Amino acid sequence: MDLRLYDTLTKEKRPFVPLDAGNVRMYACGPTVYDFAHIGNGRAAIVFDVLFRVLRHRYGADQVTYVRNITDVDDKINVRAARDYPGVPLNEAIRKVTEETYQQYQDDVTALGCLAPTVQPRATEHIPEMRAIIEKLVAGGFAYVAEDHVLFSPQAMNEANSVMPRYGALSKRSLDEMIAGARVDVAPYKRDNTDFVLWKPSKPGEPSWPSPSGIEVEGRPGWHIECSAMAWKHLGEKFDIHGGGIDLVFPHHENELAQTCCAFHSDRMANVWMHNGFLQIESEKMSKSLGNFFTIRELLADWPGEVLRLSMLKTHYRSPLDWTAKGVEESAKTLDDWYAIAADAVATEPSSAMIEALYDDLNTALAMAVLHGLRNAAASGGARERGEFAASLRLLGFLSMSAAEWKGRKQQASGIDAQHVDRLIADRAAARARKDFKESDRIRDELAAMGVAIKDSKDKDGKPVTTWEIA
Ligand SMILES: [Zn+2]
Repeated sequence: MDLRLYDTLTKEKRPFVPLDAGNVRMYACGPTVYDFAHIGNGRAAIVFDVLFRVLRHRYGADQVTYVRNITDVDDKINVRAARDYPGVPLNEAIRKVTEETYQQYQDDVTALGCLAPTVQPRATEHIPEMRAIIEKLVAGGFAYVAEDHVLFSPQAMNEANSVMPRYGALSKRSLDEMIAGARVDVAPYKRDNTDFVLWKPSKPGEPSWPSPSGIEVEGRPGWHIECSAMAWKHLGEKFDIHGGGIDLVFPHHENELAQTCCAFHSDRMANVWMHNGFLQIESEKMSKSLGNFFTIRELLADWPGEVLRLSMLKTHYRSPLDWTAKGVEESAKTLDDWYAIAADAVATEPSSAMIEALYDDLNTALAMAVLHGLRNAAASGGARERGEFAASLRLLGFLSMSAAEWKGRKQQASGIDAQHVDRLIADRAAARARKDFKESDRIRDELAAMGVAIKDSKDKDGKPVTTWEIA
């Protein structure tokens, strides 16, 4: 069975052939650590986690290297540090902000069921690699120094007679149109308005490092060069898959590709470019001004991570995702059902129909349909069907708890004290035994008011038993 992936660069879905099946290498752009991640960031983390899991399934858990970077140098970080830690030296404040935010992000995406990537490099720990790439670009005539900045020239890239792709190929933009359409109030040190920053001088108090290319004042990197450097360090000059949200295609990925290909005189940076679609909320663009901006952390206060994860996977990763409260509630009900059927089963092998769906460009929407079929087979079948269903769910990152833990978490979240409920049910049983139906009805109503639904039945010896669940 072929694994087929859609490549943004060539706009085609084709069989995935790793450069080295013993070490399949993927890179996904990670967070800029200055604030809580929003659920759009959560979508990207989950999509590339599913890809990581699928590659591990196909090639072996130790044969896949997944790099997700951390951008810990950025203007937004500096602003946040100055605001949150007044009076603390800026560099120390920046470290506090990036450490805190990085930990929050880790905790959030772990709660969403994402495996830890193999490497999570920090930009500030890769300054020598950035300087080395910048030096190569200047030496090759693709970049130049102006007023203590180093700028990359897309024009120079496109004029070079070489194996490198054309600038604009990834985002399907024409450089001539970009030049014509660019704003006029462009920085005076740029030769062309499309030139972008590889390195710039630091302002007083900002983080700074020795500059490349003979620049005497200290400076700091531009955003795009960070990823070229980290990918090179951990995955080499060429690797298999580069991913991120669709909003990163231009300019970030276009520029990463340009830098890496020009530095190494290479025809490609990654064999496959993968991008997940936008996420909107109740059919509207998510924005702070519309008041519909959700962080992962806020949603985790109301829902377990697996509910959020399932809500993401119901839509194909390349399609826009419409996040709705109703959809999340449905996911919660689905997971209650799946947990009851499969959480305590001994997982065997995931179903081949589900693997087939995932191998078709991570078609998780189709995988969901397969899972519903497996669920029905498991509900009416035996250990074999339940084992296959459980293994299929686990491959996608579900069933991280036992059935009892899942139920207990829900009771805890709802504020219901299980012991108190059990006591009331025992009191009600005693009332029924002495035929005090007024009292037993009163207790049933009290439980209903707490949000507890009870069900009376008989055990195999014919004795009455009462079970309960959160309504
Ligand atoms: Zn990046």
